[in-house]
Amino acid sequence: MNKITYLFLLLFVIFIKDFFHFLDAQTKEKRKFDWPILTENISDRITSVFGESRWDHFHNGLDIASYYEPARAIEDGKLLYSRYAADDPFREEWGSGDTVWVDHGKGTFSAYYHLNPGRKNLTQSITKGQELGVTGNTGHSSGGHLHFVLTMDYVKKIVNPLLFLPKTKDEMPPLIGGLSVHVGDRYSNINTGDTINLSDTFPFSVYIQDSGVRKSQRWGVQAVQFSLNGKVLKESRFDSIRFIDGSWLNDDGVSFPELFFKDRYLVGNLSLPSGEHTIEVIATDFHGNTAIKSFTFYVSRI
Ligand SMILES: [Zn+2]
Repeated sequence: MNKITYLFLLLFVIFIKDFFHFLDAQTKEKRKFDWPILTENISDRITSVFGESRWDHFHNGLDIASYYEPARAIEDGKLLYSRYAADDPFREEWGSGDTVWVDHGKGTFSAYYHLNPGRKNLTQSITKGQELGVTGNTGHSSGGHLHFVLTMDYVKKIVNPLLFLPKTKDEMPPLIGGLSVHVGDRYSNINTGDTINLSDTFPFSVYIQDSGVRKSQRWGVQAVQFSLNGKVLKESRFDSIRFIDGSWLNDDGVSFPELFFKDRYLVGNLSLPSGEHTIEVIATDFHGNTAIKSFTFYVSRI
């Protein structure tokens, strides 16, 4: 290859790279969503985030405390679907309660759950900010709130809404609580310096929660990393979940039972030999606030 051809090739590669960056910037530009609830203090009103444990499944949306307020379309779109209990009063209500789904194009849909009975007269075309329904407490819900879901890739991927909606406030790093080892239905807490007797493989779990702007908020975190004696056991992020081969997996291919145990984060099912061990936990919230905690303890194998 002569120098001129080489130069052209190089310029072409630079051009292509810039062109794709340009496209990327354009798609991001187009996805300017608004909050589904209009309020001054949205961070204060978020009660649960995406990816938390709901005993046997991931929480797939964002919960916003709200009752009898307009639930608004986050972007222009088309009415995809709406389902109200009044449509079929003889069939049991679904967990989602009275629900509206909006199609925003290119495989992106948003959903608004637990709406108050009483459908709005919606036409097929939906404009950003339009009132889709009134927030309520229908379906599987304890207390008035909007469960908001954002999906992409024609519902093959459910994404974390906090990554796409306008920025929220979160000033507090996650709180890493106690480490526990579970034997059947019982568990013992492990503090640094403890000696524990083990005979087999047991689940080790840790309590982690994040507060946004108020200490009483108990959100999940965006990412966790667990290490044993300096070696990473598991890394897990919550940007999205996908349904693959019959189960929902998060961005690191981690399934629900691999990540949670009895509503706590599962460090791992560990078989530890006698001696000193250190478990390190790193937790990061959706705003990049990070907490690190290490537990060093001794195992006596029985
Ligand atoms: Zn929810």
